[in-house]
Amino acid sequence: MSEAAIDAAELAAALIRRPSVTPKDEGALDVVAAALEELGFTCHRLAFGEGGERVQNLYARYGTGRPNFCFAGHTDVVPAGAPEAWSFAPFAAALRDGALCGRGAVDMKGAIAAFITAVQAFVEERGQDFAGSISLLITGDEEGEAINGTRKVLEWLEEHGERLDACLVGEPTSAQSLGDMIKIGRRGSLTGRLTVHGIQGHTAYPHLADNAAHRLVTMLHVLTTAELDCGSAHFPPSTLQVSTIDIGNPASNVVPATARAVFNIRFNDCWTSQNLTEWLVRRLDGVGGRYTLDVTVSGDSFLVPPGAVSGCLVAAIREITAREPELSTTGGTSDARFIQAYCPVVEFGLVGATMHKVDEQVELTDLADLSAIYRRFLDFYFDHS
Ligand SMILES: [Zn+2]
Repeated sequence: MSEAAIDAAELAAALIRRPSVTPKDEGALDVVAAALEELGFTCHRLAFGEGGERVQNLYARYGTGRPNFCFAGHTDVVPAGAPEAWSFAPFAAALRDGALCGRGAVDMKGAIAAFITAVQAFVEERGQDFAGSISLLITGDEEGEAINGTRKVLEWLEEHGERLDACLVGEPTSAQSLGDMIKIGRRGSLTGRLTVHGIQGHTAYPHLADNAAHRLVTMLHVLTTAELDCGSAHFPPSTLQVSTIDIGNPASNVVPATARAVFNIRFNDCWTSQNLTEWLVRRLDGVGGRYTLDVTVSGDSFLVPPGAVSGCLVAAIREITAREPELSTTGGTSDARFIQAYCPVVEFGLVGATMHKVDEQVELTDLADLSAIYRRFLDFYFDHS
């Protein structure tokens, strides 16, 4: 094992021992900031939000020149759930059979440790003649509301004249083996809350009522059987899934006056949230009757066409793992959706197989390889620009 691997594992373990269940920090960013200050980074601690619930964030920069390359990620983690369901204590950072175990190991404290050890190696070798900058944008609000995290930090950076020239988000994008997948975009996510209004009545006298349940069923049928699109060059077809149907009518002889359903659409770059909402309204109007539709959008789809940044990343992955990564846009949303409005962004990190699950863990060899990939990526990126 290389020296960098030992450091990355130790650093990741120190982070896992901080139970930073979103939106709590529990000292996790102190660990990151201390390591970065040691390397000569200037750290800015940024807290956003109201009162006692303020979310902690960190922006740290090494160097003052351009280009300014940014590693982005989050120290908050999802809850562990019932600890007895785990085969080790979720926040103890146990080592087992060559794996570091605990909540956040792959999503994404391991990647943050790899950012830092990669930068450390880069600075040690090239710090003297290095004219650009490396920065880290680490938030404590990614797994939760994502309101007082990356988005607010990006606004703060703009207000303070800090420019990011390119960014790598360290989400666990690898599918089966480290390096088999990177993300160059993400689908959008739209949630629809549909309420159908009818007229309550006696089931024996349906002509005197308007059954909201029947119309809801028809509306959901229309939505679930429609083909949204056939996919696009870099995206799979958009999909709609019904999450819940709620009527809550305990009486079998009463026609319900209201019926509700919630559905979620993961949509590609054939759509914007705007024209997708219009499409929904057209389909629902086609069924007719009174209804209300509340739409919330957690992000539009985006694509960063393959270019210099993803090219450097693919070259680094190829060199360290001999794998040819798939350039994918699958999976959920991430903070890359905010960053892509400011600079080209690509996402690459550990194998996500255990993320958000019990017994989350990372192979130490993967952690060492990830650090090496980030390290080589910095060479390629700065030598290219
Ligand atoms: Zn994550």
